[in-house]
Amino acid sequence: MTDLDIAKSVQPKQIAEIAKKVNIPFDDLELYGKYKAKLPHTLIDEKKVSKSNLVLVSAVSPTPAGEGKTTISIGLTEGLAKIKKKAIAVLREPSLGPVFGIKGGATGGGYSQVLPMEDINLHFTGDFAAIEKAHNLLAAIIDNNIQSKTYSLNIDPRTVKWKRVMDVNDRALRQVIVGLGGNTMGIPRETGFDITAASEVMAILCLSKDLEDLKKRLGNIFVGYTYDKKPIYAKYLKAQGAMAALLKDALKPNLVQTLEGNPVIIHGGPFANIAQGTNTVMATKMGMSLADYTVTEAGFGFDLGGEKFLDIKCQSADLKPKVVVLTATIRALKYHGGAHLKELTFENLEALRKGLPNLEKHLENVLKFNLKPVIAINKFKTDTNAEIKIIEDFAKENGYKVAIADVWAKGGEGAIDLAKAVTEVVEDNKTNFKPLYKWERPVEEKILTIAKEIYGASAVEYTAKAKKDLRTITDLHLDRLPICMAKTQKSLTDDPKKIGRPKDFTITVREIEIAAGAGFLIPITGTMMRMPGLPAHPASEKIDIDKDGVITGLF
Ligand code: ADP
Ligand code: MG
Repeated sequence: MTDLDIAKSVQPKQIAEIAKKVNIPFDDLELYGKYKAKLPHTLIDEKKVSKSNLVLVSAVSPTPAGEGKTTISIGLTEGLAKIKKKAIAVLREPSLGPVFGIKGGATGGGYSQVLPMEDINLHFTGDFAAIEKAHNLLAAIIDNNIQSKTYSLNIDPRTVKWKRVMDVNDRALRQVIVGLGGNTMGIPRETGFDITAASEVMAILCLSKDLEDLKKRLGNIFVGYTYDKKPIYAKYLKAQGAMAALLKDALKPNLVQTLEGNPVIIHGGPFANIAQGTNTVMATKMGMSLADYTVTEAGFGFDLGGEKFLDIKCQSADLKPKVVVLTATIRALKYHGGAHLKELTFENLEALRKGLPNLEKHLENVLKFNLKPVIAINKFKTDTNAEIKIIEDFAKENGYKVAIADVWAKGGEGAIDLAKAVTEVVEDNKTNFKPLYKWERPVEEKILTIAKEIYGASAVEYTAKAKKDLRTITDLHLDRLPICMAKTQKSLTDDPKKIGRPKDFTITVREIEIAAGAGFLIPITGTMMRMPGLPAHPASEKIDIDKDGVITGLF
């Protein structure tokens, strides 16, 4: 059975019934059909947030297929419900890019999925469309100002960093020239398109505490320079009010359900490489206001998603997670032990043993935040008992909690051990989360701390361009912003080919981008994809809809 077949085999409950489970009054639901609803901000209760238990699901360094963080997050939520805890999952919204590109959903898999998966994967409640419009409105305003003689801010078009966005993988739009066609058609300049998930507006929406905060951050977007080298921000173009108005509904979290009828909030979906890779602050706080256990996920491995979640999102929103679930797959660890990508389904005890140091490093990293990890072995059909035992023995020898999570095949039933391990850590109440670095430290010190402590690097090098960017950041007084590292997810280093737990390496910062609206700096350590392309046979070829409106071919 495909994921879509499994999803279709379950009759979802009316969303009002799901809302009732976490005491949301019917009157508060903004219904989008029968199975989706937007939730008002008034459901956030800071007192409850401070008492609730936040569970972060992260992973070892992933293989290209993904190691199952979303699937584990959903399964764990079902498992917590099975042991009678009031639990909710809070997740990211999928981008249309991967839906039509390389097959792979973002609503879990097997018997750990979210419904209605067709809707969530295709447009959902229109949040991405609103973000795209708000982003492109600013682009239009910028080009309009460059064209205008009477109200010109004297923007140097060659310095404008703000591109346009669209939520389809379309490599032909990566680099474009706008303004062609003559003197009423704008001033010609080079620009390009990113995918909507890579928009700074997405990152902003996801970190905003409320509408006022959203507006302030939108106004702080750094646009470029004037001809006499003065910085231009979106607020100088008076763009933030209209942009925020377009985002009025997109700022409201979306309620849906798991296959087993438990509540899930899905809201916001920023990239995990050049942005923070985790759902909105408002959705997390809402989950924590409604349930005792909020299970959430951050993109890629703990070195990227986990670190950013804890140092950017948690510091910014004053959140204190209680436990980290570190998803490990036997296939990923074999890969880190040198096994070939195509041979990961065969038993290979030697490669698995050799790959364990990758897991070990991520576990040590969790401890650096004063948090306790629980290893979740995401069970695949091809895993052998001997392989599973190697991870269990490793955990025992090193004093880590471990549970097999058979959630893909069994749903919540397969997550009871994991749910118990998670609640034990929480009820033990010994964690006291502390971030890795303080935002007010110098930029280079913050980058070095992440590189040394989390990646295991011995040094950080800067290119001439990156050094210039450091000066710009100081000149603009933006040096107190946190760091959002853009690094490959495939390795703990900045070289995707270096597997396992590399030692004695240097991280090279090529440039540092400024996301002044979102409120972070992005040191770039490799080529970062912001507008993916489609493969020769895109997944879109298999997607269809029949005369009754039934969708097929989606995962
Ligand atoms: P991540 O959130 O880490 O990117 P996902 O949970 O989205 O990973 O899973 C990636 C893909 O792998 C999905 O297509 C999912 O259905 C599949 N998958 C996850 N866990 C399993 C499993 N235990 N067995 C088989 N397929 C799985
Ligand atoms: Mg995921």
